[in-house]
Amino acid sequence: MGAFIIDGNAVAARIGAEVQAEARSLEAQGRAPFLVALQVGENPASQVYIRNQKKSCEEAGIPYRVDQLPDDATQQAVEEHIRMLNADEKVTGMILQMPLPAGLDARRVQLTIAPEKDVEGMHPVNMGRLIYGSPKIGPCTAMAAIELIKETGVKVEGADAVVVGHSEIVGKPIGVLLLGLNASTSVVHIFTKDLAAYTKRADILVVAAGKSQAVWMRYQREFKKGAKPPLPDLSPLIKADMIKKGAVVIDVAINRIPEALDAAGEPVKQTEGKNAGKPKIITTGDVDFEKAKEIAFYITPVPGGVGPVTVAILLRNTIECAKAMA
Ligand code: NAD
Repeated sequence: MGAFIIDGNAVAARIGAEVQAEARSLEAQGRAPFLVALQVGENPASQVYIRNQKKSCEEAGIPYRVDQLPDDATQQAVEEHIRMLNADEKVTGMILQMPLPAGLDARRVQLTIAPEKDVEGMHPVNMGRLIYGSPKIGPCTAMAAIELIKETGVKVEGADAVVVGHSEIVGKPIGVLLLGLNASTSVVHIFTKDLAAYTKRADILVVAAGKSQAVWMRYQREFKKGAKPPLPDLSPLIKADMIKKGAVVIDVAINRIPEALDAAGEPVKQTEGKNAGKPKIITTGDVDFEKAKEIAFYITPVPGGVGPVTVAILLRNTIECAKAMA
């Protein structure tokens, strides 16, 4: 029997409905949530995020505004704007759109955000709270991965959990949250000597490496420099034989890579439709989904797994911040 596929869109819809009800109730009490996204410059990637945030907020009934600062805004101007938002009682939460233009110290800017308005859960104070257990708000993707594990109903306490990836915003907080649920947790990464030795014994396997995209980007850089690098291996990091039978597998990664390369190492172009002549770019995770679903007990797809739940958690964090304000 194949694995149960965890439907991230369904989980996100359930959280979205809860958020909507809470937003209405807060509004009725005169404590309506109000989310502000701060964008510095005009990064095309963050335009997409902003569109999606706006749509999600509209659906949830959360008022949303974008504050735009110019590309050449100074560190001081950005920090002052944040302090103004911190002091504005109507604003219950804020998002700092990343990346910031070169020259700005993103870490320092983030530190300026009041922890009680930090809906992304990235401020060191909120990160610190993860250590003490049961955080109300936390980094959205990490919280989303845990939400999906809980969704399976599988016992986490005492389980062997392995997290692949140790970034500040994804891998490390997932590891801390799993420890908080009493899983015996290993966090492994690019320097781990024998990755498979860890993943093979995981009852719960969370993968957040973004390996295929990293390989593709490295290859493109070398290609552009005029070198003739060997064809890159864009296959998923986690093969089916690296997964324990009956495991819960949560694939956090989002790799945007060409579907295929030709013998010269160029992405194969589409021959039909409105995108004829352009390479076909696909979105994949870090797990060989088709084969892994024959081994795992539960598995998340990419897309349609962690991604939509991450957005839903951002809205839930927004509600929690609004509730915490007097
Ligand atoms: P990152 O580049 O900051 O960190 C990657 C981590 O993976 C590092 O700890 C690195 O050591 C490890 N790693 C990389 N290649 C590896 C390999 N070959 N073997 C073992 N470990 C390896 O990335 P991040 O910001 O943590 O994001 C990780 C992935 O999650 C990316 O694909 C990203 O797109 C995705 N992501 C998804 C969401 C979502 O909403 N679903 C949100 C954020 C990030």
